[in-house]
Amino acid sequence: MTQLELKNLVKTFSDGSDEVVAVDTVNMSLNDGEFLVLVGPSGCGKSTTLRMVAGLETVTEGDILIGNESVIGSEPRDRDIAMVFQNYALYPHMTAKENMSFGLKMTTDLDTETIEQRVTETAEMMGIKDLLNDQPKELSGGQQQRVALGRAIVRDPAVFLMDEPLSNLDAKLRTKMRTELKRLQNELDVTTIYVTHDQTEAMTMGDRIAILDDGVLQQVGTPLECYHRPANRFVAGFIGSPS
Ligand code: ADP
Ligand code: MG
Repeated sequence: MTQLELKNLVKTFSDGSDEVVAVDTVNMSLNDGEFLVLVGPSGCGKSTTLRMVAGLETVTEGDILIGNESVIGSEPRDRDIAMVFQNYALYPHMTAKENMSFGLKMTTDLDTETIEQRVTETAEMMGIKDLLNDQPKELSGGQQQRVALGRAIVRDPAVFLMDEPLSNLDAKLRTKMRTELKRLQNELDVTTIYVTHDQTEAMTMGDRIAILDDGVLQQVGTPLECYHRPANRFVAGFIGSPS
């Protein structure tokens, strides 16, 4: 079943007298539980695409469907979506636990006990159970990103969006988190768009990868398809080059 569909999605920014086409007629659809990696060089339109799906950026043209329903015009909080950014964006004055429960308190009518239970389960899954009473400033970068991931996952969203979530971590931790995120994905089975500029991440993590260049989608396929049968020279060059 299709869970998320982008139809002829366009985003233009006007920059004084200039017009920048950041996302140019992008079409893609994700099956329920699919982990799709959106990959491409810096400035190609990855974040803008995600931000439109999350409702953080208006859509110039086209449509976005979640579970067959258009979400155009709806507020971010009314979309069944959770998003994780590169800079963890945790609430600095709240503990890890408060960071994770805040969204549930604001957007659901779950009782305190249920919220507590869900936060504890998620913290266990993310390996941060011992950190629940700490504030962000007491945590390392890797720990903060786990809390940020936990905060998103605990909401049990229909769609999970991640924008370069590992790029602030050092190489060793990044490799470890890659494996963990993949395991988590298998466990949770939530429809995910994972944005990265890192080819290795794309090739190792994606059920399918979508390769974007200059706002235009170049190819969508399994990592092996894109590797063995690149649609064009850009794809061949991008996948073949070291990250
Ligand atoms: P990526 O995430 O792939 O690095 P972005 O989606 O951030 O790329 O940016 C795509 C293009 O849109 C870039 O040319 C960028 O400069 C432009 N852009 C992004 N946001 C804005 C904005 N708020 N105003 C003007 N131009 C923007
Ligand atoms: Mg970006």
